[in-house]
Amino acid sequence: MKRNGILFFLFFIALTSCLFPGCSHCPDMQFPPSDGLLVLFLDVGQADCTLLIQEEHAMLIDTATEDQYETIADHLACAGITSLDALILTHPHADHIGSAAEILENYPVEQIFLPEATATTTTFDHMLDTILEQQIPASAPEPGAHFQFGDATLTFLSPPNGKTFSDLNDSSLVFLLEYDGFRILFTGDAGITVEEQILESGWDIQCDLIKVPHHGSDTASSADFLHAASPDWAVFTTEEDSPDGLPDEDVVSRYETLGAGLFFTHQDGDIVVEISDSTFTVERLSAAFMN
Ligand SMILES: [Zn+2]
Repeated sequence: MKRNGILFFLFFIALTSCLFPGCSHCPDMQFPPSDGLLVLFLDVGQADCTLLIQEEHAMLIDTATEDQYETIADHLACAGITSLDALILTHPHADHIGSAAEILENYPVEQIFLPEATATTTTFDHMLDTILEQQIPASAPEPGAHFQFGDATLTFLSPPNGKTFSDLNDSSLVFLLEYDGFRILFTGDAGITVEEQILESGWDIQCDLIKVPHHGSDTASSADFLHAASPDWAVFTTEEDSPDGLPDEDVVSRYETLGAGLFFTHQDGDIVVEISDSTFTVERLSAAFMN
């Protein structure tokens, strides 16, 4: 299926909203939904969960909080996804691994990527127990390691194995996704010291779109990092009336100064990126089928 197939898929996700488990009111959809790459940033509050679909391949980057499991499951159901090639858990905070155990209990996952960092929380313990029980291969990729996701390539940039951090956010897996000449930079909640270390390591982080680090906090998105990344688009994973005051106004201004197109999940809902036929488009999922 080509573009019409993608729009068909988007239309029904947007139309149905999928408000109950199993999403049984979703029509049967042909899978794969696209011959290109689809990247869906889910509106899950001040938390991260991104669904990637490339032909018959599917993967998740982070799993939001525990209470967002049904939202994630509904999106998977609407896309006809019953298993995952990979699950990336950027770092062990509850707004990134909250639904990981339940995902692993309900969907076969071929492999998991996560940093070496640990947390002393029941959420982390539950996740780890589930990975061990199900004997899913899990590894902490070194900078420079690649993962082939269909025709897309992920290159991990941080953190170096063996490195410890005083702030767990800085243990976030940071990586570039490349497909058809386009690049998306995923940053987890990494902070400025990590940004500096990535730049010092000489990585080319120029990208078309950045998942804004740490929900738009001023602990990240340094001017030097943004200058090197020079994204055309930036996606903030945010919630209405954030208790942490995110996104930070100065950080938003930094992206505006770059001339980047900005999306905020708390305002725009799900954000969908489509790379197909050598074009890169970003739009609100609710608007995607209206073009
Ligand atoms: Zn976070």
